[in-house]
Amino acid sequence: MAKQRITIAIDGHSSAGKSTMAKALAKELNYFYIDTGAMYRGVTLFAMKERYVMNGCIDESGLEEALDRLFLTFRFNPSTECSEMHLGGTNIEKEIRTMEVAKNVSLVAKIPAVRKKLVALQRRLAEGDSVVMDGRDIGTVVLPNAELKFFMTADPEVRAWRRLRELQENGKEVTFDEVLENVLERDRIDSERAVAPLKQADDAVVIDNSNLTMEEQYQFMLNLAKKRMEH
Ligand code: C5P
Repeated sequence: MAKQRITIAIDGHSSAGKSTMAKALAKELNYFYIDTGAMYRGVTLFAMKERYVMNGCIDESGLEEALDRLFLTFRFNPSTECSEMHLGGTNIEKEIRTMEVAKNVSLVAKIPAVRKKLVALQRRLAEGDSVVMDGRDIGTVVLPNAELKFFMTADPEVRAWRRLRELQENGKEVTFDEVLENVLERDRIDSERAVAPLKQADDAVVIDNSNLTMEEQYQFMLNLAKKRMEH
């Protein structure tokens, strides 16, 4: 039977493992992976560099006006086999993964003008391609017609341990408490914001992976994707 190309939307709580699963599915299915969190992190890094964000305070109108000068693009890196985030011509993939960016990103992502610009870009990137896109509002706002939607979650402590390990593997000095606080705070701001809050789409398949191995989770998601592609 001919396989149908579908769109896969993955939303969920911070550090629930969305991007790991999205990347693995995209690679297996030969789909394009779009990490929308990287885009919000990119705007945040831009806002920090241009001093629109300082000590947890944001100059919203200044940042809004500066958005015309913001150029975010993904470029494929053959050595990592991943699309990496660029601001202007500069690769910012590593810089956007720091705790400093994590601490500010949910405040920047609340700003309606930022969301408007990024959602338009995300829809353009998804046009005419088979994509796996992950984020917070993909199944509800960005791609509401996606054929397959997942909502991933896990206990906050489990998520914080995983994120801590990842940060430490990349040489970052952070504590478990700092990471847990950031994970909880981002979930809170992301869920309570007025525009496109983090919430499960009615037709999303919910996965709580607190007690699942990566392999179990991956096989479950891949099987569902393959089934959807046969219809
Ligand atoms: O996915 P990641 O943890 O990298 O996302 C970083 C932040 O970007 C989230 O905590 C959230 O504030 C914001 N975000 C969002 N909408 C998306 C993706 C990410 O608001 N679609």
